Amino acid sequence: MGKPRFHVVSLGCAKNTVDSESMAALLQSSGYGATDDPQRADVVIVNTCGFIGPAKEESLRVLRELAEVKRPGQLLLAAGCLTQRYGAEVVAQAPGVDGVLGTRRWADVVEVVRELRREGRTAPVYHLPEAGPVMMDLPGIPRRAVQGASAYLKIADGCRRPCAFCAIPLIKGTAVSRAPAAILDEAAALGRLGVREINLIAQDTTDYGWDLGIKDGLATLLTDLLQAAPAVDWFRILYAYPGYVTPHLIETMAANPRLLPYLDMPLQHAHPDTLRRMRRPANIDWVHRTIESMRQAMPDLALRTTFIVGYPGESEAEFETLLGFVNEMRFDRVGVFTFSFEPGTTSEPLGDPVPADVKEERRGRLMAAQQAISLRKNQAFVGRTLPVLIEGQGDGLSLGRSYRDAPEIDGMVVVKGAAPVGAMVPVLITGALEYDLSGRVTSQGA
Ligand code: SF4
Repeated sequence: MGKPRFHVVSLGCAKNTVDSESMAALLQSSGYGATDDPQRADVVIVNTCGFIGPAKEESLRVLRELAEVKRPGQLLLAAGCLTQRYGAEVVAQAPGVDGVLGTRRWADVVEVVRELRREGRTAPVYHLPEAGPVMMDLPGIPRRAVQGASAYLKIADGCRRPCAFCAIPLIKGTAVSRAPAAILDEAAALGRLGVREINLIAQDTTDYGWDLGIKDGLATLLTDLLQAAPAVDWFRILYAYPGYVTPHLIETMAANPRLLPYLDMPLQHAHPDTLRRMRRPANIDWVHRTIESMRQAMPDLALRTTFIVGYPGESEAEFETLLGFVNEMRFDRVGVFTFSFEPGTTSEPLGDPVPADVKEERRGRLMAAQQAISLRKNQAFVGRTLPVLIEGQGDGLSLGRSYRDAPEIDGMVVVKGAAPVGAMVPVLITGALEYDLSGRVTSQGA
């Protein structure tokens, strides 16, 4: 008899992917082997997402599908954000789920399997603390997810911000930072594995170190990462919170080319009244000043943001302010979400009064405005040479990303010919679309 096998389905964001990898490492250290085929697995884990309505639906659908084809003796576990939030309701909606782990208790995965294997067990097993901080580190267990030559590295989790629309603080609790030494060791190990790009993730990366009493923690961490992982070419910051991008952070980024001139800073809206109802920073002057000083310090800065349209009370005038702001600020990348009503959040009493068709219409208008900006921004790169991290090949083409493209959320660079996967190559940009660039490998330095 071979070793028992497990299969993990990871839904939602990169922060969940990291927790999935950590659960996989725990199972492997207990003698389990991984399999890509859920049918061959003895334990199937779905790491769910519970952030907004469509993500919840997808998580439940995947659980139901796997429950329907469950083999006798096979265990089906639901982990992650949806289960943390809805617990027994998930089992009621997806009968066949044997065990439930909250997102704060991913590290209990082996224990849950053991409890489920105990003789005479009939009811589902729950590991669902309702309060307390999210679990971060366990000795020897990685807190990163590697995809080819790129990795996500979790530096913190949980969130202490008060955003009225967001369920994350309910799901994960307050912000918990990893110890700097654990992050630096892991980054060094990733460099030794051949990883060329590290994407730093947390619910709010700019809050890194606050709970540890470290001032300007992200800037300090970035400086230390450059030393600790000399083989890593690119460090990228995702999920910054407005108001906490400090002058010191900007200076640190600008002074080190390995710290990419890329920032993902979700702004969510641009009208102060909407922002106040969202309980978000409403100081638009700060946003103008900070973006201006970032662009001065890093003329090639690629700025990504996200907005929510159709938030309760968003008038046409408020939306027009947002549209004007997007046209004025000329972001490189913009994601637009329609408001999703989340029970239990502080925006619940505001209801969901903006009709779905109005939300969609506003989303369409904002996206159309941004697409024209993105196209012009991309066209400005034609004739320039950019270093591109190659991630795949096929049909005489290679696919990669430049510093302007975070994995999974931004565009690609389509390169003529077969460039080696995992290599960083200089590419002369010859074409531009709204999201993607195209070009060919050149001998000129990037
Ligand atoms: S910063 Fe706001 S939107 Fe982001 S995770 Fe925290 S509470 Fe949610």
